[in-house]
Amino acid sequence: RPVEPLLKVSGLSVSYGRIRAVDAVDLAVEPGRIVSLVGSNGAGKTTTLMALSGLLPLAAGRIVFAGEDITGLAPELRVSHGIAHVPERRRVFAGMSVRENLALGAYSRGDATEIAGDIERLTQLFPILGKRMHQAAGTLSGGEQQMLAIARGLMSRPQLLIMDEPTMGLAPQMIDLILDTVLEIRKLGTTVLLVEQNAIEAMRLSDHVYIMRLGRIVHEDSGANIDTERVKAFYMGVD
Ligand code: ATP
Repeated sequence: RPVEPLLKVSGLSVSYGRIRAVDAVDLAVEPGRIVSLVGSNGAGKTTTLMALSGLLPLAAGRIVFAGEDITGLAPELRVSHGIAHVPERRRVFAGMSVRENLALGAYSRGDATEIAGDIERLTQLFPILGKRMHQAAGTLSGGEQQMLAIARGLMSRPQLLIMDEPTMGLAPQMIDLILDTVLEIRKLGTTVLLVEQNAIEAMRLSDHVYIMRLGRIVHEDSGANIDTERVKAFYMGVD
């Protein structure tokens, strides 16, 4: 029996003025999975994620999350429904401490004890952050800032964590660490929708992969079956 998807997107289209950046995209994310969206620059991956979290208006389409139509819902309400978005370029509040950044991620909840408990749990996932709690976020390394951005996303206790190129600009060792963390996050029960430039590595850790090109989904398969050679040849150019 097929599993009911946590996220189901149908006919998603997004335009910037006259440019249709995303064109009739269908995708489904089953609970407990890591699903990745790969494709060359300008394929429309970031635009798709932003539309899913309500940061861009849809030209057409429907978004169903946990059985509920959230197509017209404001971004902050999507957060309270269980969708967290870790945007591209790891935006952290540079002048605020690590702890303050994390507390902001919990804005949909008020309970201070609960928030402290969540911060404590997240430092088990990210020990480095635990050592830097009172340091200004702007003084962290790029990789540490990325961890903070992910941890802040998790502070809203999402069912679905949307991550946009979390390894961008990081050193190889840090890339491995971040991708390992994605696996940990799934283990802890959070579903992940990932956009990743390191397509081959992303495919290895994903349960399902969608390949995007010029605003459309051109291929999809399970992470195990996806033909990486074909992907490299047709969509990535180099890897
Ligand atoms: P990248 O990996 O480079 O971020 P992407 O697959 O995420 O690529 P998008 O950033 O979603 O692609 O861009 C899709 C298309 O929409 C591109 O042609 C891009 O030039 C265009 N686009 C993106 N943002 C805007 C904008 N604010 N205004 C106009 N066009 C835009």
